[in-house]
Amino acid sequence: MHGRRQLGLDYTPLFRFLISKVGAPWDGVYSEALARLDRPDPIFWLVARRPNERRRYVLVGESSYYNGLYVDDAGTLQLVDQVVGPSSLVPRCRCCTHTFNGTPFTRPFAGFYAPLDPDAEASEAPETEG
Ligand SMILES: [Zn+2]
Repeated sequence: MHGRRQLGLDYTPLFRFLISKVGAPWDGVYSEALARLDRPDPIFWLVARRPNERRRYVLVGESSYYNGLYVDDAGTLQLVDQVVGPSSLVPRCRCCTHTFNGTPFTRPFAGFYAPLDPDAEASEAPETEG
């Protein structure tokens, strides 16, 4: 499911900040992020509040992907998947520049029916779309 969101603001700096703080104590990261925002919601687009919300990556807007994050039992910000990155995913279309944490994808567009996430679909049952 696409989390299509109305973006009135560019949250790229927030997302880069959060990802740069992986391994840091969450309380401090959260306070610092919140101080720059008018509402906390965008923080939780990346940071899972519950285990069942954890995602390897998160799509923001049309073609901007970021690492999914969570807070571990010790209160430390962590990546859901340490491996997923700009070379993991396949662009969904030819016309947009797809980025992961702001870095352009390295895999080429492979057709509209090519899997977005070939590595995951090798190990998990693929979700059917449409
Ligand atoms: Zn496009």
